[in-house]
Amino acid sequence: MKIDSVDLFYLRMPEVLDIGDGSQDSLLCRVTSNGHVGWGEAVCSPMVGITSWITPMSHSGCHPVIDSVLGQRLDSPEDIRQVYRNVRQNSFYGLLQSDLLISGIEIALWDCLGRAKEEPIWKLLGYNKTERKLPYASVLFGDTAAETKQKAVDMRSKGFKAIKFGWGPFGLTTVEDDAAHIHAAREGIGADGYLMIDAGTVFKDDVEAAANRLPALAEANVYWYEEPFDGYALAEYGALAKRSSKVKLAGGEGAHNAFQAEQLIDYGGVGFIQIDTGYVGGIGNAYRVAQYATSKGVKYVNHTFTSQSALSSSLQPFAGLKESNITEYPMEPKALCQELTVNRIDVGSDGMIEAPDAPGTGITINTAAVKKYLVEAEIKVKGKTLYSTPTV
Ligand SMILES: [Mg+2]
Repeated sequence: MKIDSVDLFYLRMPEVLDIGDGSQDSLLCRVTSNGHVGWGEAVCSPMVGITSWITPMSHSGCHPVIDSVLGQRLDSPEDIRQVYRNVRQNSFYGLLQSDLLISGIEIALWDCLGRAKEEPIWKLLGYNKTERKLPYASVLFGDTAAETKQKAVDMRSKGFKAIKFGWGPFGLTTVEDDAAHIHAAREGIGADGYLMIDAGTVFKDDVEAAANRLPALAEANVYWYEEPFDGYALAEYGALAKRSSKVKLAGGEGAHNAFQAEQLIDYGGVGFIQIDTGYVGGIGNAYRVAQYATSKGVKYVNHTFTSQSALSSSLQPFAGLKESNITEYPMEPKALCQELTVNRIDVGSDGMIEAPDAPGTGITINTAAVKKYLVEAEIKVKGKTLYSTPTV
């Protein structure tokens, strides 16, 4: 098979708010090959991603991504890895946008290949079976410790045994205030729940400020301490990891290639590596990081905030890993992401989820929703149309 076509769709909610919610728009990628169709989503600013698809070549290291994808072979997982390598080789001056765009296209290639071979992606990756995983709910801290406790009680009553609190006032006031929030969260969840804390990079590169929170995190038996620093601050991660024997660090959602994630493991000392498949370069890179993490005794966790198809493509890379047993589950994505798929990965009566046992991602895109949220766009250079919205 050859890659016959790639179509990029810019989907957007009628109103996009200036809040930390990445489910408000989407760059949806559709691939066709020999009559088979695959879908994937890239985590990026859609119009910037589309531009990296068709932007005129600047020089040999700055090709549009289209040059490395269209017409290429699609008979095996190795062909997909070769497409990814070509994009990095031919568009390395266009990175990071090329990294993000190829993430969505690469997922669509796996989905297309899986449907052509009538196998789930996790099988194409080499897993024999899937493992059930504990989904965690991700919520913002309350404005007060009492509010945080109430949120924990509410989430627990909805059936979530694992809850992550992040952002909000954390790290912005005093060590005592943060400790009050952490203890309130623990009280609300109960002693047997998993509690994770996401600092949302608030301490930038201030190791002392991040370390001041460690005693409360340890007392509250917090499972992981996420993103205390900027994702590139490897030395700071490493220094904090050495001072935190009880609570392991987590990070990696900002890694847009496998090297960055592996360095966070090697030099940052994280105990959990969190990968967004739609950002890291796709399923091949996410799988590589999952294997590397496992070899180093680090747990792999997906970072997923958007649709059910993004959730399925995020589960594939670590579907068969028993040790990496906890997964981020998009709790309240915007309507666009809720309506984008016909089927879902629901939480079972045991409180667990797993990757679908069906061809490709096992998730069907709802084309009516694609039409509903589609934004018409056109890019012209010297009067020539390089991109216009494709037909759904
Ligand atoms: Mg985070």
